[in-house]
Order: sequence, then structure tokens, then C-alpha cells
Amino acid sequence: MKILVINCGSSSLKYQLIDMDDESVIAKGLCERIGIAGSKLTHQPAGKDKVEIEKDMPTHQTAIELVMEALQDPGHGVIKNTDEISAIGHRVLHGGKVYSDSIIVNDDVKKVIRECFDLGPLHNPANLMGIEACEAAMPGKPNVAVWDTGFGMAMPEKAYMYAIPHEYYEKYSIRRYGFHGTSHMFVSGEAIKFGGLDPKNAKVIVCHLGNGASVSASIGGKCVDTSMGLTPLEGLIMGTRSGDIDPAVVQFICNKEGKDVNEVLNILNKKSGVLGMSGGVSSDFRDIEAAKKEGNHLAEVALEAFIYRVAKYIGAYTAAMNGVDAIAFTAGVGENDKVGRKAICSYLGYLGVKIDDEANDVRGKKAVISAADSKVKVMLIPTNEELAIARETLALVQ
Ligand code: ADP
Repeated sequence: MKILVINCGSSSLKYQLIDMDDESVIAKGLCERIGIAGSKLTHQPAGKDKVEIEKDMPTHQTAIELVMEALQDPGHGVIKNTDEISAIGHRVLHGGKVYSDSIIVNDDVKKVIRECFDLGPLHNPANLMGIEACEAAMPGKPNVAVWDTGFGMAMPEKAYMYAIPHEYYEKYSIRRYGFHGTSHMFVSGEAIKFGGLDPKNAKVIVCHLGNGASVSASIGGKCVDTSMGLTPLEGLIMGTRSGDIDPAVVQFICNKEGKDVNEVLNILNKKSGVLGMSGGVSSDFRDIEAAKKEGNHLAEVALEAFIYRVAKYIGAYTAAMNGVDAIAFTAGVGENDKVGRKAICSYLGYLGVKIDDEANDVRGKKAVISAADSKVKVMLIPTNEELAIARETLALVQ
């Protein structure tokens, strides 16, 4: 059975066609600059050369039509016709308080996605456009919504309620939701399997460390807490996001700089994190590491602060679960940066965490990186959000 996975951003559309018999990727690609001059489709059929198609894509609808043409093209295509596609799985950012489990899209689901535009202003409108474009291009095929907030919805009230007047939860659904949900779900599940842990009771902390970064704690695959909140701004220090901050900082900057709240929130989202802390070196962790090596003090502090905060969250989540069986690192930094992994784990000696340097000398593939006598299993588990979405879709349409 072949499943098409779609991930729409405001001006982009990523896709993967996955053969669920062996979970292999048959083709994948990216539409860029949708609705902007100079739009381009990059299509990569498995085992063949990449194809770049420059064509106007005024809407997500035209982007999907181009993707369908590319998939069926006699030269670089991979299917004869769309009958070969059994279902489409969509990453949808926000399901609000209503949805946590993946679900086959119907009018009610679309209504909720629309009602959550306020909560996910950049993504939810694009996600809905992607769904409607697929409905138009492949009438009658099931479309499945997989929520990025889904995993975090299992958090107990004590973890998801903000200590603000309750009326704001009632009126506006203001609570902690958590993001990167498909990644945390996938990686915690894979960590349990790979580490041979008890699937019902294993206490797992997943560190998703990329440009966007978050930590989650889960017991038996069920989320207990996660570091992002109402929006992805809360929690860890990220490439450009500040993560946790005293909200009074916002008021202070507004008053001192004559800016309004929206401008300062934009600074906290796009100009802060290691980019801001390093005095503007870069949001890319490799550049920050290079600058540190050249003696840049601010870059060094940014890296240390990033690592320190991850370690603090691991400590907090170990307390939340009264223990931890496994810690799994994933995403760009987590999968590639052995120095960063080791530095984080160096804070965790009190938990009996011991890293095996040889085992930790690994990139982008599943591995146990802790020593045989470590009390906690530490692992590298590459994330695969597309496969997670395809598996959720398959489970619903089979
Ligand atoms: P996102 O999906 O949030 O954009 P990724 O998971 O792709 O992010 O991670 C991107 C980040 O991973 C970048 O900041 C990049 O510098 C970092 N990264 C990739 N390789 C390494 C490495 N070897 N060492 C440190 N950081 C790395």
C-alpha cells in the first residue's frame, strides 16, 4: 500500500510517497515559494536523479497538481496513476483542545483546523489548503490529519495548565500543548523497541534538538510533560527562539525601545536563541561551534546555555516521572553532534548516566551511546516524522 505524506508550510509543501509494505520512500520532494515569484518543485525519485521544475505555483492547489504530475511523469515518475495511492497523511500543526488522535478528515475536522487558525497562524491555514488541494486532486481518497500537538495532549492538567486566571483557558483555550509531537511519539516508540524496554512502563526522555528544539517525558509512550507550550516559543534555547523567559522582559523591552508586543515577540521568535545570544553569529549550531573554537566568548556562552537548559529539563522530567529508563537524542544537533550529547550527559552523573565515547562517535543512525554499566540507557534515534505520519495514516485506513 502506498501512502502520500504531505507537510504544508505557508509557502512550501514537502511530500513523500512511502511504500508501507517495507516502509521505503518511493519519491520525495519540495515545492518552494508557493504564491511567490520564482516557485520551484524539486522531485527526488528513489534511485534516480533529482529533477527541478520551475513553474508558477500561485496556490497550494497548483503545487499539489504539479506534485501529482511529477509522480506520474513517464520519465521521472514513480506511479502509473493516482489509483496507486491509497491515502494521504497530512501533518497538521494544531488540533486545539479537540483532537489528539490522528483522524480521517471530514467536515468537522476541517472546521476544527479552521477554528485553530489563531493558535497556529502560519501553519493551520496552509495545512487546510493542503488537505483541500488533495481532496480536489484525488477525490474520494481518505485524507488523514496527524496533529503536531497530538502527543502533548496526554499531559495531565498539572503539566498543561498555566498559572494564569482560569477564564483564559475557558475563553481562549490557553494552555500548554507542546509541538514536535510526531517526532516525540516516533522517537519514544523507537527508543522503547530499540532499547528493549517495557512498552507499558518505560520512562523515556526525548531530546529533539534541531533548529527548533524541545524535550518530552513519557511513560509507556504516553506524554507526561513536554517543553513547548501554547506556541513553540516556550522551553529550550533554540536556533532563533529564546525559550523560557520572564514575561516581564517583554514589557521592559517594549518600554525601553518603544516597540509593541508583536515586535518583541517577533524578536523572541526570530532573533533570539543562540543567534541572539552569540551577538548575531548564526542560528546554525555548526557556525556557533566554529565561532566558539575561534575564541568567540558569546558563542561559547550561547552553546553552554543551550546545553545547560537541556540538562535542567532532563533533571526536571526525571523528577516528574520519579525516574528515567532511557534518554533519546534526535534531530539535527541530537543526531550529529557527539560533543553536544556528551556535554549534556556530563550533567547527569547523579542519575548514573555514563557515556561510552566510542559508541557516541556516531551520526544519524540508531545507537546506544551509554556504557554497559550506565544506569540509564542513552540512545541516538533518528527522527522520521514522515514515516510516523504514514504509519498513523495506514492504521486508520487499513
Ligand atoms: P529543523 O528541522 O528544526 O530546521 P534540524 O533538525 O534539521 O532542524 O536541525 C538543524 C540544526 O542541526 C542546525 O542548527 C545544524 O547546525 C544542526 N547540526 C547539523 N549537524 C550538526 C553537527 N554535526 N554539529 C552540530 N550541529 C549540527
